[in-house]
Amino acid sequence: MTIKQIISKVKENDPNADVDLLELAYEYAAKAHDGQKRMAGESYIQHSLHTAYLLAQIKADLNTVIAGILHDVPEDTEYDLEDVRKNFGDDIAGLVEGITKLSKLKYRGVERYRESLRKMFLAMAQDLRVILIKFCDRLHNLRTLDALPQKKQIRIARETLEIYAPIAGLLGVWRLKWQMEDLCFKYLEPDEYKKLEYKYEIEKKVERSKFIQKVKNTLGQKLSDEGIEYRIEGRFKHLYSIYQKMQKKDRKFDEIFDVFALRVITNTIPDCYKVLGVIHSLWKPKGDRIKDYIAVPKPNGYRSLHTTVFGPDNKSTEFQIRTNEMNEEALYGISAHWHYKGEKGGAINEKNQPAWVKDILNIQRHAKSTDDFINTIKLDVFHKRIFVFSPKGDVFDLPEGSTPVDFAYHVHSEIGNKMNGAMINNKIASLDEPLKNGDSVEIIIDKKRKGPNSDWLKFVKSNRAKEKIKYASKGSRFSQLKKIFPGM
Ligand code: MN
Repeated sequence: MTIKQIISKVKENDPNADVDLLELAYEYAAKAHDGQKRMAGESYIQHSLHTAYLLAQIKADLNTVIAGILHDVPEDTEYDLEDVRKNFGDDIAGLVEGITKLSKLKYRGVERYRESLRKMFLAMAQDLRVILIKFCDRLHNLRTLDALPQKKQIRIARETLEIYAPIAGLLGVWRLKWQMEDLCFKYLEPDEYKKLEYKYEIEKKVERSKFIQKVKNTLGQKLSDEGIEYRIEGRFKHLYSIYQKMQKKDRKFDEIFDVFALRVITNTIPDCYKVLGVIHSLWKPKGDRIKDYIAVPKPNGYRSLHTTVFGPDNKSTEFQIRTNEMNEEALYGISAHWHYKGEKGGAINEKNQPAWVKDILNIQRHAKSTDDFINTIKLDVFHKRIFVFSPKGDVFDLPEGSTPVDFAYHVHSEIGNKMNGAMINNKIASLDEPLKNGDSVEIIIDKKRKGPNSDWLKFVKSNRAKEKIKYASKGSRFSQLKKIFPGM
């Protein structure tokens, strides 16, 4: 990957983009990472460039692409964040800072931390562009996962599948979600992956591409005759979603697969309807399978025309017809435009979502712009919550103003009861010091300690800590009484 490729990608999105700063960022990062190698043996700057390229591909703005190049500088080189700020300004430095914070997050497969982690992921990234950078960083790491020991491969793949991918779905960045999921699938279920890959890539490939070519020729001819500008794509079905469908519905591969799917992309909405008419004049539609999500978008904002017809050789053939703009919304989500989530609506099962996810989906539906969305999320969903780390990197979700004592009781009631001191970000702190988002907290324990101090009740914020302290104090009063009245 070269900086030239990134520049031309950025210019594709915005011919007037001022790319001088981009080149400067490249020189700066190359110097900072000079001599560093990735596990696979390639030079480190390649990772930075790939991350930036992926960002340009999903049409992120210029500053985000630049931050993509710089994203590992403060963490892994001698240049610190202040230096980045001096050279590239507050906006870019803010993005890089966000990434550095997010890199502390680790999911070790312990389910009880999963929700907090997902929440924290969103809450810490004050700016959603930070999340996009993190996704692209992760995607490139997944692509080069072979170089890592197996244990690490699995940890990273699981973390991506359980934390990152659902958030990518929530934000409508489908393209990244699919790519991440397929790579994780490959490392987590290698045998299943190989089986499906073989069927899809080898057994069915020739048949599928022949069929799609046939449809393209017939339809393309007719559309050109009508003077409609169009693009036809054979739709990519991703392996992980096929695997999930097979698992959920206990269906065989062929049942899911023997539907041919194509997408027709046009310039304007009237053209979409013209294309629908042309398709129906060529092949007989299956009556109940026509959906007009342009006139009546899905509640999540998704727009397209859908129809299924008896195609060539009487094969069931599915079409999605949409404009370029709708296509970008559906693929890139928030990174391209303002966009909601949910292609075909099935990927996010709203019923089983925790309350905060429902809140986000609701906010999305009613938000007028990306900024509006971000601000509302900050106000409504994460209002009065903070996220702090244990020394192992587990995340705890606490009410605002929580103290080390609240934290201790969230880790374990015995840790609370025996706590004797606390360190915040490796510095000794008082027990009533309010914690901040992203702090890492370590509790110092005195095993001989009898129980909590009831004065703690004056400053703890969480109900859990309050209850545990009251409970433990009752217990100790009870045992004191017992000493006085042994017959109790
Ligand atoms: Mn990185």
